[in-house]
Amino acid sequence: MNEWLANLYGVTGDADYLKTAEAFNQKKIFDPLARGEDTLNGLHANTQIPKMIGAARQYELTGDARDAGIATFFWQEVALHRSYVIGDHSDREHFFPTNDFAKHLSAETAETCNTYNMLKLTRHLFGWSPDAGAMDFYERALYNDILASQDPEQGMFVYLMSLKPGHFKTYSTPEDSFWCCVGTGMENHAKYGDTIYFHNDDSLFVNLFIPSELSWPEKRISVRQETKFPESDTTRLDFQTPAPTQLALKIRWPAWVEKISVRVNGKKQKMSGAPGSYVSLNREWRNGDRVEIRLPMTLHTEPLPGTTNIVALLYGPIVLAGNLGTNGMPSPYARDQLDLAKIPDPEVPVFVSDQKTFLKKNQGDGRTAGVPDKKSRPAGRRDAGAVLQGKSRTLLGLLERRQRGGLEKQSRANFGGGRPLFAGGLGRKIKWQIMHPLKQPAKLLSGCKLSKMRKNSYEFSWQVKARPLKEGDGKGADRGVDGFLKFY
Ligand SMILES: [Zn+2]
Repeated sequence: MNEWLANLYGVTGDADYLKTAEAFNQKKIFDPLARGEDTLNGLHANTQIPKMIGAARQYELTGDARDAGIATFFWQEVALHRSYVIGDHSDREHFFPTNDFAKHLSAETAETCNTYNMLKLTRHLFGWSPDAGAMDFYERALYNDILASQDPEQGMFVYLMSLKPGHFKTYSTPEDSFWCCVGTGMENHAKYGDTIYFHNDDSLFVNLFIPSELSWPEKRISVRQETKFPESDTTRLDFQTPAPTQLALKIRWPAWVEKISVRVNGKKQKMSGAPGSYVSLNREWRNGDRVEIRLPMTLHTEPLPGTTNIVALLYGPIVLAGNLGTNGMPSPYARDQLDLAKIPDPEVPVFVSDQKTFLKKNQGDGRTAGVPDKKSRPAGRRDAGAVLQGKSRTLLGLLERRQRGGLEKQSRANFGGGRPLFAGGLGRKIKWQIMHPLKQPAKLLSGCKLSKMRKNSYEFSWQVKARPLKEGDGKGADRGVDGFLKFY
């Protein structure tokens, strides 16, 4: 309400609309946020985000800094401290205490409408102050939640993106279900182009690595981006302009890339900066100029906040998921989004690893969704990360069961990669296939390696043991078993 009424004021200039918009700025929610207090625990999550988009829009029309502060503080809390690794948040549609993540890996996590709205809010904030951290969040949520929310076979939509190990996606049906997330879901997939580029008078920001063509008539310049990201770690920008044009090209250096490499017309550029920033090429661009960007991806982990034994596995910005097969799995299409929430989950495997190395690698580093948090946080507070825990079992990476071939098809139907296939089993060595054209085997953790299987397919195998845990096994955090640390 406070957004569209503000928009009506923007269009008509009639102050009555602004006054009415402001009447919907809920004091109970706005006042603590204005003071920098997060009182969101227990609130229905997606009821709040649109109010913040309204606050953001009002700031843009009135310049009232209080509204900007409210929207910005809310964004920081939700994006950086309340989100799961996939960039979405909420369990059973509600916010929960940030030290309680381990209790919130249910079949009802991560409503996709929320991400739809958080991305919208991110665009407003980025428009005020271009920040690479905001785009790191945007990218994480776009690929791992939004892109993953559409059924590649029938085009149906996910409402709640379950992070429960062994669970699966539940899709809408063409005629018998029309959830909120079906409405926003349809919009989501028409919006992939809207945040790739931003500009101001003299700069062009390249935020996302998505094949696209940009036309900027005022500058008489067009840029064509060609890439197979994230299947490939390179992207290419080709300039077309009838006359030389001075412009600062600002390329996002994602937080997940240690070293970015940029070439202009084949010549390597010296780049200053750091991950989580924009590198700038300020020059006169000529017709036919070509920029090649390489963003080397690595396998890495992110811990679930407040835990050292629950982690997600990522490759670049892509959260890896496992395919556990379809045994006992019903058709994923449902009339009600909760119809399948109580289906019993299968036994899920656990990884066993070397204690010292693993724990060291998994200390919380105060960030979520790969976004460095510039704010200082109270001691002991962890940020959102990721997740895989079943009743008493844990798995690295997100597990999901889908119909055979589903994951692979989905990858191809969309951006061409990034979703892994899981080919392991209980009591056996666990293997991950990662659909990325790595140049050579890469190491992740002690005892893990990647090796080539076939064209564009790599196997990620653990050299350590993996076996199922029995109920109640391994209690007492970080207890070593057979020389290994068990993550449960
Ligand atoms: Zn929804």
